[in-house]
Amino acid sequence: ALDETEKIWFNGELIDWKDAQIHVLSHVVHYGSSVFEGLRCYDTENGPAVFRLKDHMKRLKDSAKVYRMDIPYTIEQLCEGVKDTININKIKSCYVRPIAFRGYNELGVYPLNCPVETVIAVWAWGQYLGEDALEQGIDICTSTWRKMAPDTMPNMAKAGSNYMNSQLSKMEATMNGYKESVLLNYSGNVAEGSGENIFLIEDGKIYTPDLGSSVLRGITRDTVITIAEDLGYEVSQEIISRERLYLADEVFFTGSAAELSPIRSIDQIQIGKGKRGPITKKLQDALFDIINNRVEDEHGWLDFI
Ligand code: PMP
Repeated sequence: ALDETEKIWFNGELIDWKDAQIHVLSHVVHYGSSVFEGLRCYDTENGPAVFRLKDHMKRLKDSAKVYRMDIPYTIEQLCEGVKDTININKIKSCYVRPIAFRGYNELGVYPLNCPVETVIAVWAWGQYLGEDALEQGIDICTSTWRKMAPDTMPNMAKAGSNYMNSQLSKMEATMNGYKESVLLNYSGNVAEGSGENIFLIEDGKIYTPDLGSSVLRGITRDTVITIAEDLGYEVSQEIISRERLYLADEVFFTGSAAELSPIRSIDQIQIGKGKRGPITKKLQDALFDIINNRVEDEHGWLDFI
């Protein structure tokens, strides 16, 4: 169950958790008309800080733009909303879930006559892929479900409806005993996990599917590309075939919830030495040093509460 906090930000007001409700005939309940974000606040050595807050709020507005959804708050107001929600709940380390959705008015598919509601909730949430995932790595499978073709649903918008696709692949993986799955795209090449971007390492060089591969423009993806380049690694964004994952020296997932999780096998094929690889470890260490403010925040990614 969710680790409830006291207050939820609902259209600009902080109300009790239990009162943050909507009608069952709201447009979003029927047609999946929502866009959302997932980010984290870390209790750093220098106090609580939200990681890449502005970038997440910008992506929320971008996702809304694709769906012609007018969120009546600026990026700055949304950032303040996140900070206010964390503050009032007196929580130092948490997951943050901002969401905007079509509310209650009419129930035709046409959405533009329904009000847009905006909500921000926070709660404590541990490592998404399990406590051991960061060190031990996880076993994953290739999904039989593919990512939406680019002319069906916009993969780059973080919309609630996209997660019906994610749910299908996550259920399949779980029922077959895997922690997570990797989905191929319409052309049969590698896209991403059900809630993560994917990277591979070959001969010391780092690769991840390009933005035309039907992936979310992951903020952790961008963070890891930046960190890797800062450390002197070459990073290539390109089309990646399925078998390159099997043959890679190291493979890992990135995401705000999953952070940087090594993958030790795919479809029961061992990846590299079958455990977290040295470059993955180096990137993880660099990421956690930044997130926990143990090194200078040279990219301005931390927003202190
Ligand atoms: N792909 C999908 C489908 C996701 O749901 C997520 C999680 N938001 C990601 C990638 C990773 O994105 P980010 O690093 O911005 O959390």
